[in-house]
Formats: sequence, structure tokens, C-alpha cells
Amino acid sequence: MKILRLKPGKERSLARRHPWIFESAIARGSADAGETVRVESHEGQFLAWAAFSPISKIRARAWSFVETQRIDAGFLASLCKKAVDARALFDIRSEGMRLVHGEADGLPGLIVDRYGDTLVAQFLSAGVERWKDVLADALLKATGLARLYERSDANGREREGLKPVTGWLRGEAEGNVDTVRTIREHDWKLSLDIATGHKTGFYLDQRDSRQRFAELAQHRKFRRVLNCFCYTGGFTIAALAGLKAAGALEGAELTSIDSSLPALEMARANVALNGFEAADTRFLDADVNATLRRFIEEGQTFDAIVLDPPKFAPTIAHAERAARAYKDINRLALKLLVPGGVLLTFSCSGGIGADLFHKIVAGAGIDAAVDGYISERLGAAPDHPMTIEFPEGEYLKGLVVVRK
Ligand code: SAH
Repeated sequence: MKILRLKPGKERSLARRHPWIFESAIARGSADAGETVRVESHEGQFLAWAAFSPISKIRARAWSFVETQRIDAGFLASLCKKAVDARALFDIRSEGMRLVHGEADGLPGLIVDRYGDTLVAQFLSAGVERWKDVLADALLKATGLARLYERSDANGREREGLKPVTGWLRGEAEGNVDTVRTIREHDWKLSLDIATGHKTGFYLDQRDSRQRFAELAQHRKFRRVLNCFCYTGGFTIAALAGLKAAGALEGAELTSIDSSLPALEMARANVALNGFEAADTRFLDADVNATLRRFIEEGQTFDAIVLDPPKFAPTIAHAERAARAYKDINRLALKLLVPGGVLLTFSCSGGIGADLFHKIVAGAGIDAAVDGYISERLGAAPDHPMTIEFPEGEYLKGLVVVRK
């Protein structure tokens, strides 16, 4: 058994059950990639069992804070089952859901999403990489499914010294199977590609905000809707569904912008999939910032705008530049809103906290000379939980702003 001995005073965050052990906290000790180590305080007191990661700044990630716990296949299988069972208690109205959300489920670096009959997993730390086979089998057993596709091609792997890996891990011979899946979400259907889509194929974390947007569309009968950073059109389909439920589809105009052509093609396919071919929808392969500026010059206005940009600040170090970028697009969007119009604005940057995001949007309002009510706060759907001990888990925050 290998031991990691911490520097004096560095046991405090582990004592609060925060699962990360930074390189700078370690006095001595080493192990192979993903190997289980016993983490001790400078005085030699047991703190945690953790997976060692020889290259990462996060040098080890805790599996357990219980000294008698054995870190073995049975333990990891029980964590998988617990995570899957927990989702049954959330009110998830979709065939797409996150089953394992990394640290929040006690499985640091593991992301698992379910799309109908298929699991898609990202193994993003040395620990879960080492236990990959055990975890894959445990996940299929816990869900009763047979197919698991690996999308270990996220940036985080590099920092762990791991190469990108994608392809079928269980259930299908490599390369000969369709990777498009269609899921039902709330009152609509969405297709996605687990092999070529972003992350595991889709942004499941925005599920409940899409539903909220559908409700707002139904209630307020939006005439002109603008969905910025639309990806495969989730918020557009939600608005169409809400307008249809209100009998207000006719005469409504929906514009969606993204810079990814494959995503826009899927978005158009999703319009057809839901029987909305007759609706007035436009999909623009363009830069959001430049397009918003053009719309302002043209004197266009909108009743509802969604701003769901990519992660501008992956870490706190990028926060300042990201803050300017968020402020800029929010300022432009607020200018394009009619009085009484609704802006759904999001940040999925871990480096931008909820308070800072609120301040950025407030600053955007001042610069745009637009006043608004914040009528709601939005966040990630409940299958993307945070735990009390792991504040880094909060990343997605949204505000509903109604222009005065
Ligand atoms: N709202 C979407 C998820 C958006 S993800 C949903 O509910 O599924 C962010 C999207 O922004 C990606 O699809 C990416 O292609 C797009 N994007 C990134 N930079 C962009 C830019 N400068 N202009 C337009 N789209 C951009």
C-alpha cells in the first residue's frame, strides 16, 4: 500500500471532505497512474483513500474518507448503482439523463449520460481510467442496458496525461453502428449524435430551462424569438412546442444562430422530427456577437432571446476576459429586446460565480441603457447535482430578465 503524506496544515480541505488533493499539498509519496493511495496528514493520521494521478495538478482524487473502506470492484459498482438509483427519485421527464456526475456521485472524473438504450461515458481522470472495465460492466448492470459508447475526448484528459479515446466500449462492434439517438424530452423529441456531438452528444443540463422557455412561450405567445448558440436547436424546439400548445404558432418567427454547421443540420432535422416544418424558422451559420450587432443596425427587435454561450472561463484565471465577453453579448441582447421582452441568459463557466454573473448582466443593462426585472434564477437540471462539500460542482447558472 502506497502512502501520500501531506504538508503540515494541508489536511483541512480533506477533513471537510473536499475530494481533491493538489500537487502543492503533498510532502511525499507517489504511485502509478490511477493506483489507490492512502492519504495521511503530516502527523500520519488517515484522511482518505484516493486515486493517484502522476501528472495532474490535482495529484489525487478521493474515493473514500472511511479508513475501513476497501477500494475494489464491489465498492465502485455500489457507487454506480447508487448514482443510477438516485436518478429514479428525480423527476426527469426525458429519455436522456445524466447518470453519473463525477465528484457529486463519488466517482471523480466519470461522466455518464443515458440516451435511450445507450450509455455514453467520459473517463476523465487517471483513477476512473484505471478502473474502466469494472465501471463499464457495473454501469450496464445497474441500468440493465447493453450498449456503452466512450467519449473520452474532453480537454480534461490531457491534464491527466491521458490520450483521447472514443468508440464503442460495450455492446457493438466498432464502427458499424449508427450513432444517432432520438430521445423524448418533455413534450418534444430531439436527435443527437453520440459520436460527433459536443461532450457526450447533447446538453442535458439545460433540460429544465428548455421546459421553462416552452412555458414562457406558451404563456406570453412570443412573436419573434432569437436562440443564440442554439447547438442542435433545443430551445428553438421548446419555443415551438410552447407556441403550438398556445395555438400561437402562426405568424411566429424563430431565428437560431450557431457557428457549427453539423449542429445546425441536426437542429433543422429536429424541427422536422417534431412536425414543425411549416413554422417560420431560420438557422444562421454565423458568429453570435457579429450577428447581434448587425441586427441592432438593422433595427430588429425580439420578444424573447436565449443566450447560452460556450464556457468562456474554464477556470477562475480566465474570469476577467470572460466577464467582458459575457457583458458584451448581454448588452447587445438587451438592446434587441422589446419592452416586456424576455432574456434567458446563461453562463456555464465554473470560473464565474452566480453573484459575479448577476453583476455582469447588471453592468450590461447599464451599458445598454436598459432596465429589467430578474424574474427567475435557473440552473442545471437535478441529475447534474452539486454536493455540499464540492462547490466547484456549480457551473451552470441562468437568469430570466424581463425588460422594463
Ligand atoms: N443551448 C444549447 C447548447 C449551447 S452550447 C442547447 O440547449 O443544447 C454552445 C454552442 O455555441 C455550441 O453549439 C457552439 O457551436 C456554439 N458557438 C460557440 N461559439 C460561437 C460563436 N462565436 N457564435 C455562434 N455560435 C457559437
